[in-house]
Amino acid sequence: MGQGFTTRAVHQAGRRDEATRAATFPIYQTSTFGQETPGHPTEYQGRALSYARSENPTRTVLEESLAQVEEANHGLAFASGLAAVTCVMNSLSAGDRVLACADLYGGCYRMFTQVYAKLGIRFDFVETTDLSKLEAALAEPAALVWLESPSNPLLNVTDLAGACALAKSAGALALVDNTFATPYLQQPLKLGADVVLHSTTKYLNGHADVVNGALVMDSEDLWRRFKFVQNACGLIPGPQDCYLVIRGLKTLALRMDRHCNNARQVVDWLEAHPRVTRVYYPGLSAHPGHDTAKKQMKDFGAMLSFEVEGGLEPARKVMERFRLFTLAESLGCVQSLVNHPASMTHASVPRDVRLAVGISDGLVRLSIGIEDIDDILADLEQALSA
Ligand SMILES: *Cc1c(COP(=O)(O)O)cnc(C)c1O
Repeated sequence: MGQGFTTRAVHQAGRRDEATRAATFPIYQTSTFGQETPGHPTEYQGRALSYARSENPTRTVLEESLAQVEEANHGLAFASGLAAVTCVMNSLSAGDRVLACADLYGGCYRMFTQVYAKLGIRFDFVETTDLSKLEAALAEPAALVWLESPSNPLLNVTDLAGACALAKSAGALALVDNTFATPYLQQPLKLGADVVLHSTTKYLNGHADVVNGALVMDSEDLWRRFKFVQNACGLIPGPQDCYLVIRGLKTLALRMDRHCNNARQVVDWLEAHPRVTRVYYPGLSAHPGHDTAKKQMKDFGAMLSFEVEGGLEPARKVMERFRLFTLAESLGCVQSLVNHPASMTHASVPRDVRLAVGISDGLVRLSIGIEDIDDILADLEQALSA
């Protein structure tokens, strides 16, 4: 049997700096590496060190650590989650068709419809929570199926094993954006995905001090294909950011246990509150994706959304009153955040599209942090008492 999740995460893929045996892998803050004789780069960690866009030892340790926590063969790190998305898009060709889940991350929606549609890639959006709709959409060939579960901000759950099997039988690659779940709670490669994407800006780094992204895969061919684009298009993160994500990964399991435990208590509290009309959280047995989430996730995560009675204006007042929660975009950090999808994270999605997928103007999204639960509940209490 292999090592446990936290053992793997703490030991940074078994890598040590060979020159010094430093306990923590150092930051190689350099743009290039000297060569003894022309055309013969130094070999280190099995990689040829020539220019730091192509290889940097700190980045290699992050990439191997990412692969280890997902129990995958290969990982690649990027300057942001969207740089990882860019890498996937740049590996496609004009004329390719991408089938994406209807309520995908707003930044991906913007990139697909406003950047890559212009370059001849075709995008269709489908409610992947209903596999029969995905199956029907796959009657027309697709190069790639883009999945997200739980989704943002409504926490919709897609049966990943079912969706990946449909993609495979239609000859399409299956990609899962696993940012909300993290590899601690969900491992899509084991459910049949070909590629896993992360905005490591969120839980994997976890401390709201880095923007960074990742792709993880088993296939050597896919790894080579994406690694080529990573270098050819210069989508790489700097070594300092890589170091911070390596550090964040080491405590992922501990943080996630606490995040999930806190979120469960917040959900119970919100469910009992007279001003809250609806709570979206896959851990609720009434949630339509509850049984699927239970099957494919270790726990239900710490992202949740709710609606305040009266819609936008009362919700706006509540959001302005939070003191402990920071009103901000992003998620998955140690401190609790509150977000208004309609005017913040999903403002790039047209209002009619937003409403059609169920993101109402009064929807409030919470990213529950690891603070003491009594303090979190006290802040909610005073914010909702307005
Ligand atoms: C934040 C996020 C992204 C984009 O990542 P960045 O690091 O902000 O570029 C992609 N997908 C999901 C689900 C996200 O939450």
